[in-house]
Amino acid sequence: MSHTHLQFIAGERRPGSAEELSIIEPATGAEITTGTAAATTDVDAAVSAAAQAFPEWSSRTPADRSEALYRWADVLRGRADELAALESRNGGKPIKLAEGFDIPGVVDNVAFFAGAARNLDGKASAEYSGDHTSTIRREPVGVVGSIAPWNYPMQMAAWKILPAVAAGNTVVLKPSEMTPLTSLVFAETAVEAGIPAGVINIVTGTGPVTGAALVSHPEVAMVSFTGSTVVGRQVAATAAGAVKRVHLELGGKAPFVVFDDADLEAAARGAVAGALINAGQDCTAATRAYVQRPRYDEFVQRVAELLEGVRIGPVDDPETDLGSLISLAHRDRVAAMVERATAAGAKIVRGGRIPAHTPDAGAYYEPTLITDAAQDSEIVQQEVFGPVLVCLPFDTDDEAIDLANDTVYGLAASAWSNNVFRTQRAAREIRAGCVWINDHIPIISEMPHGGYRASGFGKDMSAYSFDEYTNIKHVMSDITGATRKPWHDVIFHGD
Ligand code: NAD
Repeated sequence: MSHTHLQFIAGERRPGSAEELSIIEPATGAEITTGTAAATTDVDAAVSAAAQAFPEWSSRTPADRSEALYRWADVLRGRADELAALESRNGGKPIKLAEGFDIPGVVDNVAFFAGAARNLDGKASAEYSGDHTSTIRREPVGVVGSIAPWNYPMQMAAWKILPAVAAGNTVVLKPSEMTPLTSLVFAETAVEAGIPAGVINIVTGTGPVTGAALVSHPEVAMVSFTGSTVVGRQVAATAAGAVKRVHLELGGKAPFVVFDDADLEAAARGAVAGALINAGQDCTAATRAYVQRPRYDEFVQRVAELLEGVRIGPVDDPETDLGSLISLAHRDRVAAMVERATAAGAKIVRGGRIPAHTPDAGAYYEPTLITDAAQDSEIVQQEVFGPVLVCLPFDTDDEAIDLANDTVYGLAASAWSNNVFRTQRAAREIRAGCVWINDHIPIISEMPHGGYRASGFGKDMSAYSFDEYTNIKHVMSDITGATRKPWHDVIFHGD
């Protein structure tokens, strides 16, 4: 069995000093490799490498950083097939998803931030007071500690690392201990492209040890976390103790609102693709379809038919539509939520079980359609993070908006209608960081991704993400040369 160094510190792969980790292929249960986790001392070494790299990297010109990022995009393009195969294997993802979405998305993000690195904006310098010239400096915050989840390992690493390094910060990223392999290659290719050793470091290990050490490290100026709301709360609490800047991208429970004038076939297809992408392990996945009553039965029937055609299979088969979940433990958690839903009165229209003909140790679960759940039940309110869509009827437009807003989350939502007034209202009144109209899921590097309410705060991707990873400094220079300034009257009197 192969053994892999799972740490990338100061430009080198290294073993960690903590326990052995086994990296599993979730679709089969086979071990891909083993390696050792990062202990606190490894986190110290990574933070120290990032701190050492910071002065040189942060003082480079934007054009220099941009050039390095463009070279990185080229290196990644050349290794796209290899990376897609690795992401598919380690994440249980169908190869067509890794090849068509995960890896091209990463390459596009690198290229976007290569351009954006030269365009950090701010207010125009001017004499706002009349007596001073005010200028804005955008300065990197320092060493950023980033923590990523397992669902889109390389994309999440990219979303965390790119705006940070483009703005001149250096980074220590902790990927999920289940899916570190592509993040390690990602960091290695940065060095290959000429980004200096130490600018990007990877520490692989568990949340409570490696993650907690990174969050609480005194030399980490900012923590950028993507993961569950439960862990996000702990991370925020630790960061608050040190008054450390924090950026949180947390869970979601996206509503999918279908009004009675919608193109029903488009909505049904959108719901199936939106619910099943990445086996539903997507923070923006369509999870709660609310359908206006006159079209409800038709919608449920069509979604059930479409689910029937989804091909479950080995992840390296280009024909496979639905891969496995990330682990057997997570599959069992999804299955238990579905069981509790039916025990509480919900009905399973389709799925709700482990598929036949998949490997026993593979974490597969059938695409599942649930109806008749109560709005306040767990299956409607809590994140399932599996291939499970709940469908419920509504009567009035007011009710649809209320139901869409009726969870603690606010990451993403969609509204389906051919009536511009309805879609505009939904866009305005649904409280979420992204509202799609007549679609659900597409993302783009130029536009921000981030939540409202328990889905967190701060933006990934787009130029808006620079607001997370830069300090804005106001420099106010006197232009009068006067010894006695008019405002000194507040203290001095007379002459
Ligand atoms: P998780 O919260 O369990 O883990 C996320 C990361 O945090 C992992 O690397 C984990 O090791 C680490 N971690 C765990 N405990 C920690 C601690 N005490 N201190 C520091 N780090 C710790 O989430 P997950 O199961 O890996 O991922 C799924 C979750 O991620 C879902 O809730 C999903 O909605 C969310 N997610 C959100 C977005 C977004 O952009 N909002 C994107 C992808 C995933």
